[in-house]
Amino acid sequence: MEKVTEIFGSLVFDDRVMKARLSTETYHSLKRTIKEGRSLDSKVADEVAAAMKEWAIEKGATHFTHWFQPMTGVTAEKHDSFISPAPDGRVIMEFSGKELIKGEPDASSFPSGGLRATFEARGYTAWDPTSYAFVKDHTLCIPTAFCSYGGEALDKKTPLLRSMEALNKQALRVLKLFGNEDVKRVITSVGPEQEYFLIDRDQYEQREDLKLTGRTLFGAMPSKGQELDDHYFGVIKPRVLSFMEDLNEELWKLGVLAKTEHNEVAPSQHELAPIYSTTNVATDHNQLTMEIMKKVALRHNLVCLLHEKPFAGVNGSGKHNNWSMGTDTGVNLLTPGDTPHENAQFLTFLCAVIEAVDRYQDLLRLSVATAENDNRLGANEAPPAVISIFLGDELTEVLKSLENDTPYDGTEKTVMKLGVHVLPKFFRDTTDRNRTSPFAFTGNKFEFRMLGSSNSIATCNTILNAAVADVLREYADALEGSADFNTDLHKLLQKSIKEHKRIIFNGNGYDDSWIDEAVNKRGLLNLRTTADAYPVLLEKKNVDMLTSLKIYSESEIKARYEIGLENYCKRLNIEGRTMVDMARREILPAIETYVKELSDTYSAKAAVVGGDGAGTFEKKRIATLSALVDEIDTKADQLEDVLNTYKSMGDGQEAANYVRDNVLDGMTALRKPCDEAETLTSQKDWPFPTYEKLLFTVK
Ligand code: ADP
Ligand code: MG
Repeated sequence: MEKVTEIFGSLVFDDRVMKARLSTETYHSLKRTIKEGRSLDSKVADEVAAAMKEWAIEKGATHFTHWFQPMTGVTAEKHDSFISPAPDGRVIMEFSGKELIKGEPDASSFPSGGLRATFEARGYTAWDPTSYAFVKDHTLCIPTAFCSYGGEALDKKTPLLRSMEALNKQALRVLKLFGNEDVKRVITSVGPEQEYFLIDRDQYEQREDLKLTGRTLFGAMPSKGQELDDHYFGVIKPRVLSFMEDLNEELWKLGVLAKTEHNEVAPSQHELAPIYSTTNVATDHNQLTMEIMKKVALRHNLVCLLHEKPFAGVNGSGKHNNWSMGTDTGVNLLTPGDTPHENAQFLTFLCAVIEAVDRYQDLLRLSVATAENDNRLGANEAPPAVISIFLGDELTEVLKSLENDTPYDGTEKTVMKLGVHVLPKFFRDTTDRNRTSPFAFTGNKFEFRMLGSSNSIATCNTILNAAVADVLREYADALEGSADFNTDLHKLLQKSIKEHKRIIFNGNGYDDSWIDEAVNKRGLLNLRTTADAYPVLLEKKNVDMLTSLKIYSESEIKARYEIGLENYCKRLNIEGRTMVDMARREILPAIETYVKELSDTYSAKAAVVGGDGAGTFEKKRIATLSALVDEIDTKADQLEDVLNTYKSMGDGQEAANYVRDNVLDGMTALRKPCDEAETLTSQKDWPFPTYEKLLFTVK
């Protein structure tokens, strides 16, 4: 590999390239656009486009694309070549400012939840200059937002950008109250830790379930699972290591700050974490990371599984969303400072996050709800579907003393008084040892751990930014014009803690007694499935918050509601149908083959030995397998009936509830006899690779 410092960002049209290739005037005009979100005039756009094209061609690009994130959650691109015919039969390479700024993909097949009526089916894409353009697969990729002609967001990026703006605006108001006149911008940052599985491609190709749904729908537990915990942080196997090296190089070229990599708990499971960046860029980079992971894996004859739960019985994959707010002057607002003044400010932002998470726990839960992630949340290995915050004992004590004006039992007994006392230093270093909390304070950031590995990080950050912005707005409304700021702030935070401390829980989130306490004593929500979570999106308090902060319009909310439920139903329908198909056309014939072998053996034995004594084993096994065959047949028919009933229902809430209540159970009922039969059938007859092979082959 070439030197990392040389390859890093080599395929990115970043600040270095802009500075080198644009006129000073154009460069500054573009920087202003990026910084202040202004629109770019067409002359400047033409010059930027020309420079981008020249640069991209030098990097081997022949095409360009507006790269966007429709509501499917994956990225979309439509390639156009730069070529343009010249009168003498040659071609010239062209790319105008207009093409840079706006695109019109024929995107009528992307989900719009009814936002884009067919007569205006052509949504448009608009350049997002806050995320750098880059070259991938001989194509200049221009990060863009995707909207309908009515201006409604058809993507995940637009609401995210709006939420960052909303948080910026409200946080600045609060910072002003603390006298921070020099701060011009508050930025949210994210570092997403990405988990994934790597399995052998030849084995993957033999499994319909993996190919069609991304996860195994059948499979008996192997004799060895993850119980020895010998994989976590273990030595990385050579084939995996060479994949990781290749992956890092690709990501570095694209300017992705891939930083740490290690084995995870389950066999064949790994993690990659980048250094954090601005939420918008982190989102683009995470989408790229997932895409490049899959691509690089294939080169190594591996398949990268990003599904939340590829295997039953071993850990699923999540994506920890490390989130913080910071100023353009370099202050992390979630870090306690060295002066009483800074600490009052820190506690204010801390309380705002706590209040936001409590008030909008429903929306946060919803923001990570998919059929795939339902397999993981609450499954005794991932955070429960109930949201709570881990603060750590020290900080919890600080808030308690603030709430009650009681002495804080730290190094010295003091009554926490805002703006007067310095926070004890020790909790700054206390790293989080609690791995079971869905939302953990980890010293200078919060880590939201409910995300599934394949989730786009856009939506949960949109909701998180919006929720915090909403609380900060109320704080600012209450405190602007206050005659006695410290006293009023003190009272405001006391009230906030009193009303929202129920969300704070420092214990074991995997414990059943916690779910009982959370739901029955504290009144926290336990929205177990996606079908349960979606209705909250239409609740008045949530619609009011999201529309008043201009994150989503009402019709944009409605669209997301419809698309979310539709995806849920479709996913489970595909899973159910795949199971029926595999059971009938692969599993049943395999068992029958083995039964035939047994019966041949039985006849052979009877012929040689004669009498009743011979063939006891074969008789017994044939009886067991025959019963299982009948059960599989019956359960497959029942599941098919359920799926046919769903088909007549459409894809709304009613269908989602039906699917939740019937398809999932039907799938479990069909899987059980199949997995049992697997353990009793000859390995050579079994039609696809078992868990043992899938999980332990890659060396
Ligand atoms: P752990 O597994 O202990 O949580 P990792 O190093 O795997 O730690 O991941 C931590 C992630 O948090 C990294 O992506 C890191 O860049 C990110 N991070 C660190 N500080 C901040 C911050 N202030 N804001 C947002 N993300 C941060
Ligand atoms: Mg972490």
